[in-house]
Amino acid sequence: MSLTGPYVGRFAPSPTGPLHAGSLVAALASWLDAKAHNGQWLVRMEDVDTPRCIPGADQIILQQLAACGLQPDGPVVYQSQRGHLYQQALDRLIQQGDAYPCACTRAEIAQANAAHGITKNRHGDMIYPGTCRPENGGLAGRPARAWRMRVPSGAKAQLDWSDRCLGEQSQQLDEAVGDFVIKRADGLWAYQLAVVVDDADQGITHIVRGEDLTDNTPRQIWLQHQLHQPTPSYLHTPLVLGDNGEKLSKQNGAQALDISDALTCLKMAGRSLHLQVNASNQCDWLAQAIQQWQSQFA
Ligand code: GLU
Repeated sequence: MSLTGPYVGRFAPSPTGPLHAGSLVAALASWLDAKAHNGQWLVRMEDVDTPRCIPGADQIILQQLAACGLQPDGPVVYQSQRGHLYQQALDRLIQQGDAYPCACTRAEIAQANAAHGITKNRHGDMIYPGTCRPENGGLAGRPARAWRMRVPSGAKAQLDWSDRCLGEQSQQLDEAVGDFVIKRADGLWAYQLAVVVDDADQGITHIVRGEDLTDNTPRQIWLQHQLHQPTPSYLHTPLVLGDNGEKLSKQNGAQALDISDALTCLKMAGRSLHLQVNASNQCDWLAQAIQQWQSQFA
């Protein structure tokens, strides 16, 4: 299915804490891309993983964005209020035979993989051996824990896409990830399903986000195919690394942005995006940044 119509982009933070230098880069890049295309820029709070969310972080993020001059062009949506849409998608996938319940614990998956000599993937994640696939006997009387999305094998499992920044990309879904979780054992919706349902529901045409999410894209494209949704265009931005050379993240203690000096925050984010903007006020800085982005990416 192809995309038509006007540009709709989004920034989709998880409200697990305030924005830091790394997440501002993703916010700024997605905003610049939308503005460079005369498009709409939406903000979606990805608060499905409720135990990791911090009350009030959503408001702080919105204030930080506003201080940097990044204003959403529509109402902010919250994934925690959209469970009915994820359920509809799951029902459809079940009906199509794409999703199936799984009873396996992590220890059981590890054991089954060890028995078959299957090693973890490059992120240290376990590839699901397919124990609960209906054709392998299903739950076999055990209680369902999670719901998994079936991935194809062989030539059909090779997903190719073109990233506007990284170029041609390819992933062999069955070897890289295997049948993946779309509803977790703790009853929470998995990021992969929620993000695909929401991007489609909000009519997102362009996704601009951090490079750490690149590996998720083929799973999301596969879900889009099976849900008969269009595939947006993708641009993954370079990651901001901390002093230890690791990806800057809330988990490794990245500092919240000091928005009393929003221009400095924007300049730092702009440098990570290889923008060379010289302006002494925020309004001019953003206007010049849009122009530069336009010449690079639009
Ligand atoms: N919520 C995800 C995160 O904060 C981003 C999801 C996305 O942009 O697709 O890492």
